[in-house]
Amino acid sequence: MPLAQELKPLEIDAYVDAVSLDAAVRALADGAGTPVAGGTDLWIQKDLGKRAYGRRLVNIRRVAALGGIAEEGGRIRIGALATMTEILESPLLLRAAPVLPATADRFASVQIRNAATVGGNIANASPAADMVLPLLCLDAEVELARWHENRIDRRRLPLAAFFAGPGKTRALPGELITAVSFDRPAAGSFGAFQKSGPRPALEIARVALCIAGRREGRRLTSVRIAAGAVAPTPIRCPRTEAEIEGVALDDAAIARALESLGREIAPIDDVRGSAWYRRHLAAAFLEEELGRVARS
Ligand SMILES: Cc1cc2nc3c(=O)[nH]c(=O)nc-3n(C[C@H](O)[C@H](O)[C@H](O)COP(=O)(O)OP(=O)(O)OC[C@H]3O[C@@H](n4cnc5c(N)ncnc54)[C@H](O)[C@@H]3O)c2cc1C
Repeated sequence: MPLAQELKPLEIDAYVDAVSLDAAVRALADGAGTPVAGGTDLWIQKDLGKRAYGRRLVNIRRVAALGGIAEEGGRIRIGALATMTEILESPLLLRAAPVLPATADRFASVQIRNAATVGGNIANASPAADMVLPLLCLDAEVELARWHENRIDRRRLPLAAFFAGPGKTRALPGELITAVSFDRPAAGSFGAFQKSGPRPALEIARVALCIAGRREGRRLTSVRIAAGAVAPTPIRCPRTEAEIEGVALDDAAIARALESLGREIAPIDDVRGSAWYRRHLAAAFLEEELGRVARS
């Protein structure tokens, strides 16, 4: 069958090309509209018929207020429209939070990276959203805006509290992600991202794991661990973090951390891999990263 006949028609009543935040949130008010940024998730989901969308399509790509990557007063702010390519090439992030460019480097293909935005990655709320993991490790907040009582109403939520389930967030109807922000990591901080898929950089993760913190010899402090594709949402692993915090990393300590991780994750069997294999991969990633510190 020719491809054109397999695709469902785009079911929209109106298309709004927003050029200001004001125009975008007005067009989205009360959930009447669907924002489109890079479109890399939206078009695929629309054709699969897996999610319901508002019938007014609101293109936010030309809203300048939603772009940019900048630091102000020790806080780094990444606009919702920042693409994976912009994150990969940002001199500020390469210096201050290199785990973000390192994650972008494992994200899809060049073509997808040029279109895919950080706001779309968060809003899509996939359990396997790669860029969410380093942002969780950075204790990031999501910045939100909506049109309410004739004005733009803004609020912030910790990213860790933003996800409600697969494909579900705690955003209010019509609320747009405007940015994600976090404190500049202290000097000497490190972060590492690991991901497995049939084609590691081109595909949705089978399992992904991010670890961040500060190295003090064979110890880690301010430890943060986040994992993807092992639970209904991307998760932090606070009990495993506590197990590692400040402890001299020898074989026994690493074994305790791996046991703890096994209790914190709850992967499922699906087309990308079995629950057993996902557990194995998550443990292997953590063991590799902790082993690196133990041997240093
Ligand atoms: C071939 C391919 C490979 C991929 N590889 C990866 C990968 O390696 N890792 C990974 O994590 N993902 C991957 N993805 C998924 C996708 O590219 C990412 O999730 C991407 O970041 C989505 O961003 P977008 O701008 O394209 O979002 P869109 O498709 O434009 O939007 C996605 C959803 O978010 C909503 N939305 C968009 N922006 C906002 C906003 N600012 N505020 C509120 N809601 C908003 C939209 O309405 C829609 O529901 C892949 C996709 C494809 C097609």
